[in-house]
Amino acid sequence: MIACSCHVCISTDKKDKRLRSSILVQSDKTTLVVDTTPDFRYQMLRENIKHLDAVLFTHPHKDHIAGLDDVRAYNFFQEQPMQIFANQMTIDALMREFAYAFADKKYPGVPNLELNSIALDPLMIGDIPVIPIQVWHLKMPVYGFRLGKFTYITDANRIDAAEKEKIRGSEIIVVNALRKEKHISHYTLEEAIELVQDLEIPTAYFTHISHQLGRHEEIEKSLPEGIHLGYDGLQIIS
Ligand SMILES: [Zn+2]
Ligand SMILES: [Zn+2]
Repeated sequence: MIACSCHVCISTDKKDKRLRSSILVQSDKTTLVVDTTPDFRYQMLRENIKHLDAVLFTHPHKDHIAGLDDVRAYNFFQEQPMQIFANQMTIDALMREFAYAFADKKYPGVPNLELNSIALDPLMIGDIPVIPIQVWHLKMPVYGFRLGKFTYITDANRIDAAEKEKIRGSEIIVVNALRKEKHISHYTLEEAIELVQDLEIPTAYFTHISHQLGRHEEIEKSLPEGIHLGYDGLQIIS
């Protein structure tokens, strides 16, 4: 955290250097990201991602959308609009917050975005099957996504029973665990562990971790079998 000198922020362990939360998903034919954080540009450069087919959004909070402008590099090399998939609430926010990209007369070089409004129906993005899952971020409906046996849920602190059933049977889940103390709109470490155990998912990684949670090394040691802290650059291959 900017200007913080707590024992996590001054740690020299690479796993304590956390950029904002997003994931990149790659199949044989398709590459997509879930969310474009303020760190999106650096994340794509760091991982040397030469091609991107689509962006899926979870919700319109700034830490999940702010990096969208930088997809224009992919517009330039791929010579086509970037496919954006999001619920209508998020699409409305994108049109507000990136109004210049949707203006009638556009400044040259602004991102070229093709907006696809999605609801809870399953869809295909390239060859990747996507099942949207609606979760609650205090009172905001946020989309999680199940992609085959993998489920990604960020920015949630509650999931209705019917939506939970969509997650059940996943082999791997990535879910948010902000810190140990209660928070109004994010799962705590304990709540996230409970969710994983309740859904009987064998492997879990926690994301959207605050510096308040503690150092990676100390927290990782305390977690039940099969449950891990995620970290920047983590790759899951299946
Ligand atoms: Zn949020
Ligand atoms: Zn967030």
